Amino acid sequence: MAEGRIIKALSGFYYVENEDGIFQCRGRGNFRKRKITPLVGDRVTFEAENATDGYVLEVHDRKNKLVRPPIANVEQAVLVFSAQEPDFSPHLLDKFLVHVEANDIEPVICLSKIDLLDEETEEALAEVETLYRNAGYEVLSTSIYVDETIELLRPYLRERVSVFAGQSGVGKSSLLNALKPELNLETNQISKSLGRGKHTTRHVELIPVDTGYVADTPGFSSLDFQGVSPETLALCFPEMRERSEDCRFRQCTHINEPSCAVKESLNEGEIAPSRYKHYVQFMQEIQNQKRRY
Ligand code: GDP
Ligand code: ZN
Repeated sequence: MAEGRIIKALSGFYYVENEDGIFQCRGRGNFRKRKITPLVGDRVTFEAENATDGYVLEVHDRKNKLVRPPIANVEQAVLVFSAQEPDFSPHLLDKFLVHVEANDIEPVICLSKIDLLDEETEEALAEVETLYRNAGYEVLSTSIYVDETIELLRPYLRERVSVFAGQSGVGKSSLLNALKPELNLETNQISKSLGRGKHTTRHVELIPVDTGYVADTPGFSSLDFQGVSPETLALCFPEMRERSEDCRFRQCTHINEPSCAVKESLNEGEIAPSRYKHYVQFMQEIQNQKRRY
């Protein structure tokens, strides 16, 4: 019996990788009775019949599970946001961060296309970097045309499963190509939407990059606040999570309550106004969503 990770699932086969290679496996374990569908990213116990084929016997407990695209055990999300083209949107970044935090995934913020900056926009981007570092996040800036910046990203991908996420056109595929040129992924929104495009169903695959894996399909393709409640939203903002223990009310939503430590931090400038503003907006969205169901 051996252990490995499913890196691809296609036509009833699971491709399980470990230090001995890749095994094309069918399912034969009691996970079938328990109605567990193995997913890309799953750690499994399998029986190798020979050097290339085998049977999946057991799916190990998952740390988490993304739905769109379906991947298990994602540990890290590289949130790619371009400095320009498309313009940087702090609202969208904060939304991605909430989803990543809610799934217990480690975020890394990657500000891409820095070669497009001029003096003025460079200053604005430096402010963005400081804001998110102060909130407790790792922030990198990259350009596919500057090798050193790609090398700064590389160590983050080691020994874990990562997904790249972010709007289309921010440079996710280009970054993957820069990290691993032999991938030769298609880039540029236009050719992608003309070709295989968004609407053809594609399977997800984990690509080995250095000693880690990266999903070949962007993560978090839907951002609808499923799984985030008004009570847990503040937990998805690290700088608020810390302070909320000092609020007078245990159920404090940090909006209208008196003696709220989060609002005190906001007034003292320790929490960025834009982050708090988005928190309030997301709270409304979540409450409206609950009412609809
Ligand atoms: P994706 O949709 O997020 O995968 O974005 P792509 O990788 O397809 O890139 C979209 C467009 O941005 C392409 O035309 C790329 O050539 C361009 N691009 C990607 N990264 C960079 C970068 O670092 N600098 C510049 N100037 N353009 C980039
Ligand atoms: Zn509070």
